[in-house]
Order: sequence, then structure tokens, then C-alpha cells
Amino acid sequence: MQVLKFGGSSVGTTDAISKVIAIVKARVQTTPTIVVVSAMSGVTDQLVLLGQTAAQGNEAYQTMIQNLAQKHEDAVCALLPTAQQANALSMVKALIQEIESHCSSIFNDRVLTLHMQDCLMSYGEILSSKIIAAVFEAEGVDQVWLDSRAMIKTNSTYSSAVVDRALTNQTIQAYFTNPANQHALYMAPGFIASDAAGHTTTLGRGGSDYSGAIYAASINASILEIWTDVSGMMTADPRIVNNAKEIPRISYHEAMELSHFGAKIIYPPTILPVMHARIPLWIKNTFEPAHPGTLIENESPKDNNVIRGISSIKDICLLSLEGAGMVAIPGFTKRLFDALAKKQISIIIITQSSSEHSISVGVSVQDTHLAKIAVDAEFEEEINLQLLEPLIIEKELSIIAIVGEQMRNHPGVSGKFFSVLGNNGINIRAIAQGSSEKNITAVIEAQDVHKAINLLHEAFFETAYKQVHVFIAGAGNVGRKLIEQIKQQVSNLQSTLRLQINIVGIANSKQQLIHSAGIDLNQWMDQLAVAPGGSIQEYVSAIAQHNLPNSIFVDVTADATVADSYAQLLSKGISVVACNKIACSSPYAHYAKLKSLAQNHHAAFLFETNVGAGLPIVSTLNDLIRSGDQVNKIEAVLSGTLNFVFNHYAGGKDGKTFAQVVKQAQEEGYTEPDPRLDLGGTDVMRKILILAREAGYPLEMESIENESFLPAACFNGSVADFYIELEKQEPHFKKLYDAAEAAGCKLKFIAKFEKDSNGKATAKVGLQHIQPSSDFYHLYGKDNLVLFYTNRYPELPLVIKGAGAGADVTASGVFADIIRAARV
Ligand code: ADP
Ligand code: ASP
Ligand code: MG
Repeated sequence: MQVLKFGGSSVGTTDAISKVIAIVKARVQTTPTIVVVSAMSGVTDQLVLLGQTAAQGNEAYQTMIQNLAQKHEDAVCALLPTAQQANALSMVKALIQEIESHCSSIFNDRVLTLHMQDCLMSYGEILSSKIIAAVFEAEGVDQVWLDSRAMIKTNSTYSSAVVDRALTNQTIQAYFTNPANQHALYMAPGFIASDAAGHTTTLGRGGSDYSGAIYAASINASILEIWTDVSGMMTADPRIVNNAKEIPRISYHEAMELSHFGAKIIYPPTILPVMHARIPLWIKNTFEPAHPGTLIENESPKDNNVIRGISSIKDICLLSLEGAGMVAIPGFTKRLFDALAKKQISIIIITQSSSEHSISVGVSVQDTHLAKIAVDAEFEEEINLQLLEPLIIEKELSIIAIVGEQMRNHPGVSGKFFSVLGNNGINIRAIAQGSSEKNITAVIEAQDVHKAINLLHEAFFETAYKQVHVFIAGAGNVGRKLIEQIKQQVSNLQSTLRLQINIVGIANSKQQLIHSAGIDLNQWMDQLAVAPGGSIQEYVSAIAQHNLPNSIFVDVTADATVADSYAQLLSKGISVVACNKIACSSPYAHYAKLKSLAQNHHAAFLFETNVGAGLPIVSTLNDLIRSGDQVNKIEAVLSGTLNFVFNHYAGGKDGKTFAQVVKQAQEEGYTEPDPRLDLGGTDVMRKILILAREAGYPLEMESIENESFLPAACFNGSVADFYIELEKQEPHFKKLYDAAEAAGCKLKFIAKFEKDSNGKATAKVGLQHIQPSSDFYHLYGKDNLVLFYTNRYPELPLVIKGAGAGADVTASGVFADIIRAARV
């Protein structure tokens, strides 16, 4: 014999029921079959609500009954030929009348006992199984309806009754061995049973799977099939992980652990009866019957999968008993567990600190109140004597678990588990590993579950791609180029670095666009234009709330408020990539704090483009220092803007004034929004400051000497005022130029950092006359040049030279940082 169980969604619509009929009809031809069905999907919930509504004295329950009647009558009419509907319709009517009569007594008494609730819930399965039995009868199948209440015997714990397996076996076997009861098909309602007094009981929500297993084990069926709405057991809940994969084979133990830790696909007690009887258990998809599904069997397959699946349980609370006197209390653990057991509170996870000063248990949140009363009462005396603290309760938690029998032979699984979570700022409240080493379990904050499961899934099952989520602040020149470059490279990065870069947020000073599934990079400008507005603080809060794995915040603004948000982001484990120089040139203490936040929260804080746009200046410096070198002197032309300006200004000889050259630089995108930051030397001061700091010297901005060539009057007023003043100052600039030319030199704005023989570090910036013999003389266009004099490069410096400004090169430097951050 064989047992096939069909879940709520498989019998939820007439279309689905037709599929069930087709599957079963093909199977009964060869082997006698027990078909166990759930209630039509949603019906059990409606029956519970119905009872509650009646108990509240709310007459709306009557309309609810009518809706229920309608749903089942519709099914009869759609599934049976007209001539054969009458019997089935009167059967439905009679059952609905029974529901009505129960509800009217609940309404009068204003109370819904668990006993009565079980009785009401049972009608869901009774109705669905009887309707389907009527369809088979109409189709001429040799079948009989089997009352599971008479077959499966339980205790009287209503709503989650415990099955008396010995008595149930006897009853079922007695029935099936009777020659009078031989049929091709037995239609049985799942979920329901009865106690010794004959009162209806239920096996717990989702319990029809268990009914199937009980029938299968009692008759020693050749196979148990659980037909549902997915093609088998998957590596994670497909509603949480888009890339969840079907598991072709899995052991009973692994399946049991996964379901125990929340995989809803199968009700946890289901596995045990079939495991003991060694009956193969298949999970199949009613809507895709040709798909092989999952085979649950004795052996765990010997493949490369160290872990088989990931699951989670929501709404957990952690109860902790602590106290220095705990060691002295005899039978302490037993008393704790007994106190909980007496109140029927089931413990999902247990952890004890090795000092034995605290023990924590994870339970369902609805048990919290009862547990608190029970445990505090049990230990009242010890609490009064201050040997123990009253029970501590932490809520809004969830449990996540990875499961796999091969884990015990593979060291390093738990290391990977914890580093994946830790590197993404997910705080672990408690951990447990079963002594059989089939699972590793952690209690984490509920808000982190989605992220944690996706990260773990990626780490253990998706060697293919690492999903990276990028949030961009700033959609100006650099931002636009960056998005364009990323768009061009997405597939290349997938194939070469196994990185899947998703831009999930783009914000400018007015609008903010966030799509956690990834923004369409062909349409982002149109979408951003109509996106809602918000402050940078709102953007940052939204980023934190989305809590996406491997998140990177990219600052391509020059805005101080954006820079102010880095600390908050880094402390949430979100990496920061900045071309904005404000944070790194802020007071040293702040710069140092950001660096340590990044380190402590396993996030990257990268700012290559703070100096020399896309040139590899900061990363080269970092490599030198990390490999043990020491920087003694840096000389550099660090302003692409100033270089452009002095290379294009010929003292007015070509008819162009200094102001016109500056304007040209701005129009071509080589200046800060306010060019005075470049011309006044502030920008170069920031850059040499950042290099000095990265070289290990804690300099402050104020300690840098600046020999400004810009007359003081230029600093007054707006950018427009500045250009007017600059025109007026043309004689001043011409004089600077002429003096240099007369000496056979060029004008260059040089930054210099130096450490004297006492180890004292100084830095200064200023305009200098450069001789033709100097490295700086032949520096054209907007090029930058940096000379690093270090212990390893003492006389001939390490030289980095190239375009040091421009949206394209800056964007590519930012992009390189994003890739570095993604690979951290
Ligand atoms: P039925 O009504 O057939 O009993 P359930 O809703 O109880 O179906 O269980 C099937 C659902 O379980 C799937 O639709 C899926 O969303 C969910 N599920 C959770 N975890 C897993 C998993 N690891 N593998 C497959 N499905 C899972
Ligand atoms: N109908 C019951 C429930 O919804 C049992 C089941 O579907 O397995 O919980
Ligand atoms: Mg189910």
C-alpha cells in the first residue's frame, strides 16, 4: 500500500483538486492507496476566526459560515457532474448545519474552549475529504471515506494532541486486515483524531503531514508522498531566499532538524514514524507532478554539500536565569526544565555559559508570560535570597539554523557560519550546536533574519556569486559616470570576480530612489526624477532598515552632511566608499574613529579618490606601510585643477585671462563646485593631510602651512562674485607668471610632507617656481605627480603620475574601491 498526502494549497481550488484527482487516479490502478487531505487552504484559519467571533458575541460569525458554505458548495458544483451533485450538496449542508449549531452554543456561552476549537477546526478536513471522495465515487473509483477520528487515537491535549501510537497502530491494522475493508482507495481527512472519550482532537497546525505518516507507518506502506505547492524540500524557505535550490535527496535526520528549526514544508513529528519503519518519504509538487521532488531516506547522500539546508523560526524569546549562586543550587537545571514542562512550554534551544552562572532557553514568544510566572515561582526562594536574578526576558528574536550530517566531518563550518554573520554586523545572542553536530543554531534579532539567511545561503550554496548592494549618494558628474561604468561591467564582474553588483539606492540632494531588488540602470534618471524627496538622514535610515547583505554606501558628493553619516553607517557594518574628502580631513580624532569603526564592524572604509582621482596613490601608500616600509617625505602636485590652470595660463599672452582659464577648468569638470577650494589651496591641504595620516602621522589641518597665491578679496561672496573679483585681479596673476617666466621656470602648486631627523612631521603647500630639471616641470594638462621617499625608496622616489581630475577617472577610482569593499 501507499500513502499520498495533499496539503491545503493542493486542494485549495477546483483546478488544484482536479490535478489531485488525476494524480491519484493514475496511482490507484497499481497499488491500493490511502489519500490524506488537508482542509482547503485558508479554511482552518477561517474556522478558528469563526469560533473567536462567535465567542465575542459578534453576529458576523453567521456571514462567515455562509462564506464557508459557499466555498465548499462551489467546489462541489465545479467538480461533480450536475446529476451527481445533490448528494454531495446535502452532505455539505449537513456539515455546515453542525458548524452552525456549535457556533450558536459558543455565541450563547461566550466562550471558545480548546476542545470546541478542535471540534470546529475538524470540519475543514472533513469537508474537503468528503467532497473529494464524492468526486472519486462519481468517477467510478472503488473508494471509501475513512474517518480518521476513529483511526487515530490521542490524549486529550486539545489543539496539539499526543498520539497513542500503540493503540492507533492496532486500530488501523485491525481495519485494514479485515477482508471486508479492501478497496482501491481510502479517502482520509488529515489533522484530526479523537481521545479516549471519543472527543475530536487535532494534531497541531500543519498536522495533516503527521496523519499521513501515522497511516503509512501503521500499515507499513511502501512509500509516503507529501504533495504540496513547491517541488520538494529546498535549501532555504523560497519565500526568503530567491535562489533557494531544490534538494534531491536528504536524510530523515536532516529533514527532521530542518523542520524542527522552522522549515514549514513538513510538520516536525511527521518524520519519526516513517523513519522508524524505514519508509521512503517523498515531497512532490501537485502543480508540477513530473518533477522528481525530494526523497527523504535513511542515508545522507555522499555529495559535496556539507550542509543540506538553512531554516529559521520567528517570534522567539530568550529566557535567561543568572546568578552567582547558581552553582550551589541542587538540581537547578532539572527544576528549570520541569517548571517549563509543567506548563507545556517547549524549549527550542538551550545554551549554558561555561562558568555555569547563566543558562538561557529559547521558547515561542506566546509562552513568555507563562514561563516567567512559572520559573520565578519555582525559584522564588533563591531569588529572595539573591542567589538568582528573576528570569530575564529578551524579545523580538529569531532562531536560524544550518543543518547537515556531513558537518561533523568538516572542520570550519561553524567558523564560516559565525564569520559570515559577524562580517555583516549581525549580532548573535546565543548559540547552540547539537551534540550530534547535525546543526548549528543561533539566536539573532528578528530584524536580521532575512539578511542572515540570504548571507548564509550565499556562503554555503551559491559559490557562484556574491551579491553586493550599492547605495549611491550624489548623482552629479561623477555619480552619473560611475553608474554608467558599473552598468557596462556588471556581467564581466560576475564572470571574472563572481561579484553581482546591484545598485539598490541612488539619491541626490532632492530625490531618493531605493529598490532592494536592484534599480534598472537604463531608466534610473527618469525614476529618480519622480522619486520621493528626503534628507540624507532619511536615506541613511532607509539603508539601515533595508539591512541588505554586503551593503556599500558610496559618497560621490562634496557635502559635509553626507560625510557626517559615515559613523552611523560603519557602525551598522555598512562599508563606505567616498570621493568626498571632508571626513578624512576632519579632526584627526574623527578620522581615527571612522577607521576603528570600520575595523570593529568588519566594514571597509575606502577613499582612494580623495587624492589624485583614480590614480592608485592611497592604495600604493597603504601597501608600502602594510609591508613594513616607512614614508619620510612626500612631494606632490596634487591639484589637477591648479595644474590645468597654470598649464593653460600664459600670462594673458594668448588673450585668455586667469579668470577665463579657471572658468574653462570648471566647465570641463576639473574643479570643486566652489573653485576657491582648489585655488585657495584647501583642497591640496586636505590631500597632503590625508596622505600624511595614511602614512601614519596624526597631523591636523591647522598645522599645514599654506602660502596662498589667491588675494584675500577673492574669498568674499558667492562663486559668481569670485569670478568678477578674479578678473579684477588679472595684473596680480600676470605678475606671478612673468616672474616665473623670467627665471626660466614654470608655476606649480606643490604639496610637501616631511619628517625631520627628530621624527617631527610637517606639511606645507604653495606655489613654486619649478626649474626644467625638476620632475614637476614636464607635467601637462590636469596631471598629478606624487613622489614617495621611503626607507625602501630613499633617493629615487616611487613615482605615481597621471590624470588627477575628471569625472571619468574619479568614477573609475570609486568603482575600484567598490570592488575592493565587495571583496572584503
Ligand atoms: P501544504 O499546504 O501543502 O501543507 P505548507 O504551506 O505547509 O504546504 O508548506 C509548503 C511551503 O513551505 C512552501 O510553499 C514554502 O513556502 C514553505 N517552505 C519553508 N521552508 C521550506 C523549505 N526549506 N523548502 C521548501 N519549502 C519551504
Ligand atoms: N488544516 C490544518 C492547518 O491548516 C492542517 C494542515 O493543513 O496540515 O493547520
Ligand atoms: Mg503543511
